[in-house]
Amino acid sequence: MKTPDTADGSFKLPAEVVEICDLAKRIVEKELMPLEPEFLPHPGHAFGIKETTNLRKVFGEDVTQRLIDISKDTGLWYLMVPEEHGGSGLSMLTQVAILEQFNYTAVPFPFANVANILYQCEGDQIDRFLKPVIEGEMTTCFAQTEPNAGSDPGGMMQTSAVKDGDEWVINGTKMWISGAAESDMIMVQVVTDAEKRQRGGITMFMVTRDNPGMTVEEPGIKTWLGPHASQYVVNFDNCRVPESDILGGVGNGFRLGQKWLTIHDRLLRGPFALGKMRRALDMSIAWSKQRVTFGKPISERQAIQWQLVDMYIDLEALQALTYQMAARADSGEDIRAEAGMVKLTSMIWGARTLDKAIQIHGAMGESLELPLTLFYRYLRHGQIGGGANEIQRMQIARKLLRD
Ligand SMILES: Cc1cc2nc3c(=O)[nH]c(=O)nc-3n(C[C@H](O)[C@H](O)[C@H](O)COP(=O)(O)OP(=O)(O)OC[C@H]3O[C@@H](n4cnc5c(N)ncnc54)[C@H](O)[C@@H]3O)c2cc1C
Repeated sequence: MKTPDTADGSFKLPAEVVEICDLAKRIVEKELMPLEPEFLPHPGHAFGIKETTNLRKVFGEDVTQRLIDISKDTGLWYLMVPEEHGGSGLSMLTQVAILEQFNYTAVPFPFANVANILYQCEGDQIDRFLKPVIEGEMTTCFAQTEPNAGSDPGGMMQTSAVKDGDEWVINGTKMWISGAAESDMIMVQVVTDAEKRQRGGITMFMVTRDNPGMTVEEPGIKTWLGPHASQYVVNFDNCRVPESDILGGVGNGFRLGQKWLTIHDRLLRGPFALGKMRRALDMSIAWSKQRVTFGKPISERQAIQWQLVDMYIDLEALQALTYQMAARADSGEDIRAEAGMVKLTSMIWGARTLDKAIQIHGAMGESLELPLTLFYRYLRHGQIGGGANEIQRMQIARKLLRD
């Protein structure tokens, strides 16, 4: 297998993309960075809930609406939406480059946040589910994990549904579901054929929050990712869902979930890390030049310089890898395993970069006034959430040995 040469300039960004990146940079500097001092210590911010929900919890309606207006007026709102659904039609590479800019700050910028499972909507599902999510009128979350089914959902999933007339009846428990309490609808994977399981026996249902058979346990599970709990246990107790609320057809739920995780969850972890790593490096350079010990700025010590150099290498290497994989996805290549490579490296290199930045900052590195520990926790979490490092390696190994 011949892989494209990253040096051939195949992903050199066209002028119009550079222009959108500059616009993103200006929004980050002018609108988002000034909000950071209020965002970081605020007890309302949470990991894994949609940007708009997160903003509302911290800043209330006015600030949130102003940012939504900026996003919609500039067209950035539709960045990740496909053209046939009114979206930007921009390539994956372009999306990655723009998202990288927005990840320079901890304050989230509001985008249409659509899990691409929803693009499987058919008939009236388009008006009931897809369009309201694109426009930000409704939010969804994704429920795959269970108390005993994390890395091996296909093999271990217990939540099941049986057909009863025009309805399916779901029973079971999901766990660690990000944003369940804040979502209007939950996309839930359920075993519908215990023999076939992940090979045609798992189905994706859309369950609305007002369904009396579904309860979200509150308060949620507290983690180190933020002051506000945003992962939840979700119980299904004879939860009746009409056949018309199945996404992608009976038995296709596992394939759909994997497809979504490949692009939205794995490849986009690249820009998620890159922005944070660039910020950490910029902050570390600035800090080390002005922090004096034993008569000299610490930037003049080789021990510090080598840490800065290693951070720079990780940043440049990750950018090359991420852009290359995005360009290959744009050319129609199946990059499922390679997207896993982006997820794996962005989270490991990202966390080690933040670790160095915290060290260079000394006590200030641990202060919640700076975004460094939050960035670190997000990146370290990414080595577990959405398919742990070991699972990414398993999938990459499978491809290597197969090819
Ligand atoms: C903050 C947070 C948010 C989350 N959000 C969601 C969500 O929105 N929706 C959702 O469905 N889930 C969500 N999850 C769940 C997450 O996807 C799972 O935690 C993750 O997939 C790992 O599963 P597990 O915790 O059960 O680990 P386990 O599967 O128990 O694995 C434990 C360890 O063993 C390793 N391991 C497992 N199998 C192998 C193997 N064959 N070879 C080598 N090592 C192996 C794993 O990599 C891991 O390191 C979230 C979790 C967290 C912490």
